Amino acid sequence: MRHLYKTQAWPNQKWRWILPILLVSLFLATLIWLPWQAQRMEANERQEQLIADTLWVEQAIQFQLNRNDEMLRQIGSEMMSLHLSVDTVRERFRTLIKNNHEIYSILWLDSRDAMIAASPELPQLSKNVLSIQHSASGAVDFDSKTRCFSPMLEADSKNMYLLRCQIPLFQENRYTGSIVVIYRTAGILDELVPWWFAQENQIMLIDNDEKMYANRAAGGIGKNVYTHNRTLDLPGLQLILRTNSNKSEPKLLSNLLVLTVILLSLGLIWSLLALWRDISRRLAAEGALRQQVTFRTAMENSLVTGLRARDMEGRLTYVNPAFSRMVGYPAEEIIGRLPPMPYWAPEAIQEYQGRFTQLLAGTVPSEGFETIYQHASGQRIPVLIYESPLINEHGLQTGWMSSILDISELKRAQELTRRQEEKLNASAHLASMGEIASMLAHELNQPLAAISSYTTGAINLIKAGDINPELLQSALEKANTQAQRAGHIIRSVHEFVKKREPTRHSVGIPDLIASVMPLVEMQAQAGHINLQWDLAPALPPVLADKILLEQVLLNLTRNAIEAMQQTPPEKRILRVRTSADSAQNLVVVEVIDQGHGISDDVANQLFSPFFSTKSTGMGMGLNICRTAIEFHGGKLSHTDNPAGGTIFRFALPAADYKKSPVE
Ligand code: ADP
Repeated sequence: MRHLYKTQAWPNQKWRWILPILLVSLFLATLIWLPWQAQRMEANERQEQLIADTLWVEQAIQFQLNRNDEMLRQIGSEMMSLHLSVDTVRERFRTLIKNNHEIYSILWLDSRDAMIAASPELPQLSKNVLSIQHSASGAVDFDSKTRCFSPMLEADSKNMYLLRCQIPLFQENRYTGSIVVIYRTAGILDELVPWWFAQENQIMLIDNDEKMYANRAAGGIGKNVYTHNRTLDLPGLQLILRTNSNKSEPKLLSNLLVLTVILLSLGLIWSLLALWRDISRRLAAEGALRQQVTFRTAMENSLVTGLRARDMEGRLTYVNPAFSRMVGYPAEEIIGRLPPMPYWAPEAIQEYQGRFTQLLAGTVPSEGFETIYQHASGQRIPVLIYESPLINEHGLQTGWMSSILDISELKRAQELTRRQEEKLNASAHLASMGEIASMLAHELNQPLAAISSYTTGAINLIKAGDINPELLQSALEKANTQAQRAGHIIRSVHEFVKKREPTRHSVGIPDLIASVMPLVEMQAQAGHINLQWDLAPALPPVLADKILLEQVLLNLTRNAIEAMQQTPPEKRILRVRTSADSAQNLVVVEVIDQGHGISDDVANQLFSPFFSTKSTGMGMGLNICRTAIEFHGGKLSHTDNPAGGTIFRFALPAADYKKSPVE
């Protein structure tokens, strides 16, 4: 899966657009050029058509004029050979004019150009025409004996031009007169140009100086787009036949082809743009996907948690590198496999099968479970597996996804901790044994010393022969009491060191003082010390192990007495003071001496076990005292005595008298 996508982008991404763009541009250019070319061809065709038609019209005019000429010659020759009467000639003229409306008038002139006959009668002809008529004799081409056209004559009525054609008549080479035919220039165009041509073109007769003699525009004025000038060569006169089509240039947009081309081009450009956009979007999406895949691959590769996906049949469909490393099989070796898997440890196959059946039944454990896998090397790996269903985009389950944690390290650490705890317990046990031993050694010192001194006293009495039963009994009873105390001490110390919940009772401070008083007094006497009891009258009891508290008090008084060994006898005062701190609900006991005091050096190590400044000291006393006081929720402290020496002070929380059990 990791190798499905190439991470490198296509290098010539920009250039791959060039070819399609070029092709499309070429296609569009061709599409645009084609109708333009078609339009040009159409224009050419029209022009050529006009030229051909104009030629045809010119030929038609020539033909008709020649025909008229021939007919008039025929009449002329008949006139001379048959000596036709003037009326007959006039009748023949009228018939001709009737059939040829382009002829305005026909005149018969004698050899001196005097008018013999005219049709129609010429009163309507202007003098202008007639005067010119007479002066026109010089125009007759007698050598060629052919007709001859005279220049244009302007009739009286405006814009009416007349064209005179003189046909000389000869008899045996003798000029006998002439027939003059007068054409209306407008008539030539009206009669000799076919109607269909006139409908589509403006036709004009002009001379070389562009002067217009006739104009026919039945279908409207010409558009000056398609024009053609055709010389109308008449004997003795040159006119120009100008045709000007009233058709306009073929319009590009009116052309269906052009419209189709434009629509096609627009469609093409639009689809190209859409394609471009779509491809750009796809490329962007592909880039994002590639980035995500790279990110996911990096994430998967960096994971230490194994990931495994299975389909609904339990076939492995995906494993990440961490999983492959964990079980020692490459992904391609295990993907696609159905259980039993190569990493199943033979001894746990039953368990796997059971769990797999459960999984197929759709029961996925909501919490992780522990099991073991077998590495390809055969090594067992404890693992913690979490399963969850794989749901596709339609909300349907397609399989299961599991994350697998290699908990070998955790197991190793747990085992190590367990072993260390065991060791610790063993050494703690040993330590408490040592503590018991040292405490007992320390605490039993006093009762043993007391027993020793009572029994020594008793022995001394017997040795002296002074057998006073009362004295002896008293000494032995006291020794007995101390022996019992020693027993109590052993039990208390044992209880205390084992840190079991002590059997606490309500202890009255006066009781406590009374218990230790004989021993303290005995020690004080031995040290020549002035012992003072400064006891508060009514103190609340405390909840405590009485023996432990007695030991604390005995330790403190013994230290005080020992500190005053070098003190002058008059200053050897040991004061035991009890008081109540009602504000903090405490009961306070102070042991005040005037001994050598405590230097800063000593103060720093005062409570350390086995710290002692004394040659025979064990250095455990204060340590035991503080532990015992703190064990009862109290506090042991010391201050300098203003009168010299030290004050040791312990405060214990006062018990609720009413609730406390009565001893
Ligand atoms: P030990 O009495 O065996 O030396 P302790 O723990 O009882 O052990 O005392 C530790 C040290 O504290 C003593 O060696 C002594 O130097 C000092 N000390 C204890 N009590 C007093 C006191 N009341 N005045 C001066 N020094 C004291």
